[in-house]
Amino acid sequence: MATNGDSDHGAKAHFVLVPLMAQGHTIPMLDIARLLAGSGAAVTFVTTPLNFARIKSLADSVAKSRLPIHFLPLRFPCAECGLPDGSENIDVLPSRYCLASFLHACTMLREPLANHLRRNFPAPPTCIISDTGHPWTGDVAREFGIPRLTFLGFGAFASLVRYVLYRFKIFENVADENEPVSVPFLPHRFEMTKAKSPGNFGGPGMEKFREVALAEERRADGIVVNTFDDLEASYIDAYGQITEKKIWTLGPLSLCNRDVGETVARGSASNVDVSHCLRWLDSKKHGSVVYVSFGSLARTMPGQLIQVGLGLEASERPFVWVIKAGDRFAEVEEWLKAEGFEERVKDRGLIINGWAPQVAILSHPAVGGFMTHCGWNSTLEGVVAGLPMITWPHFAEQFLNEKLIVESLKIGVPVGVQQMTHWGVDDTQVFIKKDVVETALSKLMDEGKEGEERRRRAREHGEKAKRAMEEGGSSYENTKLLIQEIQAKNMHANGKLTM
Ligand code: UDP
Repeated sequence: MATNGDSDHGAKAHFVLVPLMAQGHTIPMLDIARLLAGSGAAVTFVTTPLNFARIKSLADSVAKSRLPIHFLPLRFPCAECGLPDGSENIDVLPSRYCLASFLHACTMLREPLANHLRRNFPAPPTCIISDTGHPWTGDVAREFGIPRLTFLGFGAFASLVRYVLYRFKIFENVADENEPVSVPFLPHRFEMTKAKSPGNFGGPGMEKFREVALAEERRADGIVVNTFDDLEASYIDAYGQITEKKIWTLGPLSLCNRDVGETVARGSASNVDVSHCLRWLDSKKHGSVVYVSFGSLARTMPGQLIQVGLGLEASERPFVWVIKAGDRFAEVEEWLKAEGFEERVKDRGLIINGWAPQVAILSHPAVGGFMTHCGWNSTLEGVVAGLPMITWPHFAEQFLNEKLIVESLKIGVPVGVQQMTHWGVDDTQVFIKKDVVETALSKLMDEGKEGEERRRRAREHGEKAKRAMEEGGSSYENTKLLIQEIQAKNMHANGKLTM
């Protein structure tokens, strides 16, 4: 599976990737692993037994293709941190109040990881790319005298806004959660409210952690961002200036998967027969289907979920609707089956219960629109597919991504969410009614001038996204440069290069 780099000591770039164990963070890190390994570097990918089991088929295909990626599953100390057994991913935590314990458990991976790296397998480490949520990896990098690059999982616009908000404590003395406050250091005037700001994720008790993470971020040697220059140029520049760091834009990362098999293997095993799903899409008219998914973490309460379904039904359009495992409450089951929803829409609705092969679906020509929670990976996957989107942000930086989609890229129709749904909290409020869903759908799929223009812009962004990852494209070149730079630093450190 992994190359033995002993003969390359001092020369080969060996990246140690430490993702945060949440799908929206791990999936793009897996893509980074493929990208770097595919460009000649060695990679160690840190994981845990439960998370490794989820990506078993990907690990098998990596082994078969002899990509130099070494998966390193480290035991996750649930019991020591008061977490239920198996709490190895944020998506299985019983509540958001466990997040602090989860992050503490992550810090305990430090010694096992350092011990492993001391063995110099598959080669001496030369660079750590780790999630911003793992500030402890800064110490590991310093122990080995190697650079640490951070990865946050946001796009450049959201990363920039978040950085400015935290670094300059913009909301510190703001009492009214709904008062628009001006955010400085952006390329244009920008206001936002505390209520919609990214800091609301994770709930109370996270302030201290955030400070530690920010302090380590400021010591980092660079920042990796899943975006591309043509999409967010002015924000990338501003982010580099304010952080005084090199911003490595390597995306859209999902494009490093070259076929359906590879896209399906990232994340988890699908809960639908992928070929059945693609055949179903084959039977639909080009650009006619709406794909609806709210990502891996957002919980949608039964009342709200039913309104989404009724809106889809009223739209009379074909749709693929993903209802994740955590949203399958008894009330929803009852409504889907006994109350006849599934039966009524069976000719034009495909409901996926659990995990969907999202990228494969989005890139199918029958799909013409995406109703999304605006998670950054989903956003970028929608951009790659050249799709207009209905934006339905829930929490974290999703309201910022909505701004980018609607106001900057001009490819979005906002459904009109005004309030954050708190992650992991049972919030029974219905924010958006069926009629509003229906109106947004008809606007999105509208065949008039406005809809056509939106589709045209979306297609253009999609083409630029692909160019960024092709030979000569900005992200393609950045990947090569990153490996070269790490390799040069390594040779310098080993006295093989005088700079
Ligand atoms: N995803 C998927 N199938 C699903 C749900 C999500 O493949 O049923 C993938 C999706 O393609 C994306 C990631 O999971 O790559 C979700 O990340 P995102 O940043 O969009 O949202 P989050 O889940 O972090 O809120």
